[in-house]
Amino acid sequence: MAVRAGIVVTGTEVLTGRVTDRNGPWLAEALRARGVDVGQVVVVGDRPEDLRSALAFLSAGNDLVITSGGLGPTADDLTAEVVGDVQGRPSAVDEELATRIGAIVERLMSRRGWRVDPEATLAGTRKQARVPAGALVLDPVGTAPGLVVPPAEGDGPPVVVLPGPPPELQGMWPAALAAAPVQAVLARATELRQDTLRLWGTPESELAATLRRVDDQLAGLEITTCLRDGELEIVTRYAPDAVDAYGRLTDAVRGDFGSTLFSEGDDVDTLVAGGLVDRGWTVATAESCTGGLLAARLTDRAGASASVLGGVVAYANSAKEQLLDVPVATLEVHGAVSAEVARALAEGARARFGSDVGIGVTGIAGPGGGTADKPVGTVHLVAVGPDGASASRSLVVPGDRAAFRKRTVTVGLHVLRELLLGGPPA
Ligand code: ATP
Ligand code: MG
Repeated sequence: MAVRAGIVVTGTEVLTGRVTDRNGPWLAEALRARGVDVGQVVVVGDRPEDLRSALAFLSAGNDLVITSGGLGPTADDLTAEVVGDVQGRPSAVDEELATRIGAIVERLMSRRGWRVDPEATLAGTRKQARVPAGALVLDPVGTAPGLVVPPAEGDGPPVVVLPGPPPELQGMWPAALAAAPVQAVLARATELRQDTLRLWGTPESELAATLRRVDDQLAGLEITTCLRDGELEIVTRYAPDAVDAYGRLTDAVRGDFGSTLFSEGDDVDTLVAGGLVDRGWTVATAESCTGGLLAARLTDRAGASASVLGGVVAYANSAKEQLLDVPVATLEVHGAVSAEVARALAEGARARFGSDVGIGVTGIAGPGGGTADKPVGTVHLVAVGPDGASASRSLVVPGDRAAFRKRTVTVGLHVLRELLLGGPPA
């Protein structure tokens, strides 16, 4: 049986969507890498009764429970106390810890030049220093200490209590892993592999038919498929002894979808970045409807400066003419949203930046501006490289403005992938 963990993400700001949860996914992957399977991530607001019932639910089916958030000095930060209650360990102030937190807070205040009512600070500090009896304290990365709280009696899972701010949570993670009750759980875990196959342009229903056909040969694989921005991801988890079954899955997918299988591992961003580096090529962008999002995505990863020279957001025709030398005649004859203009944008970017590769994007993001000829969602992308090499795609992207822009950027990456590496047409 796999070792399993459950995660409680606390915070009304996460529950309401004002803050997007980054801790649940991060912890799930960090645990997976240790062979621990995460079955549930539960988000609760800052209400003690909701946290209590989430802890009870997760404790019932898991070997380890992890919480994020609610360790601050304010009244809505109540995780430590509630976890202590649930584990049968009442909390009390740890005087030594209170002194340590006090020193951290003081340093922080003086560095920032803040003046705060000392009494309020003291109350906050003492609250943060409340520790369930017998719990292990994890040193603060910010001001809040984390905790590892084993059950006082019985054989329930230990609860690891971590702070909400992602850098603090991630900074505390190694200490949490090293804690004896967590080590005891990890010792029972076995390797849990995760591999991804990526298809471009295959509908999920076709893949489902293939998976059904070979279903009886795939014992030991946990396969999930996800369609996102036109990419179909097949993510499979398996124990090392199911490696042959994974080979059979890969063979079946290669056999049925060889023409759309663009990767047996890396995502398209990694492929494009690697392709540029391998060829020693640079790239520049000329974007209209995506407003710089393609350049943002290309520069998202560290090391992008080795290949990405820059980009121009040319929204108005005047910008296309003046900044990227798109001929007026091309704009007049074909219209701003046309394959011809996309090509002129790509060539303009390449010439102006002196890059090896230029990519141009022009389209109608909507909701207005569509015509019978060129409906909302129409978009043209062209990438040009040295020696007249090029790749292009013209399509109508479904969805609202935000979806259009996001999807178009992904198509742009595939146009670059095709130019650099070949493989399935963009
Ligand atoms: P603090 O001392 O800052 O209050 P805390 O441990 O009490 O720390 P929270 O109050 O739950 O943590 O969250 C503080 C801030 O950290 C949130 O406002 C949010 O910006 C960020 N944060 C918390 N939880 C998450 C999460 N799951 N994903 C992303 N950001 C988060
Ligand atoms: Mg807080």
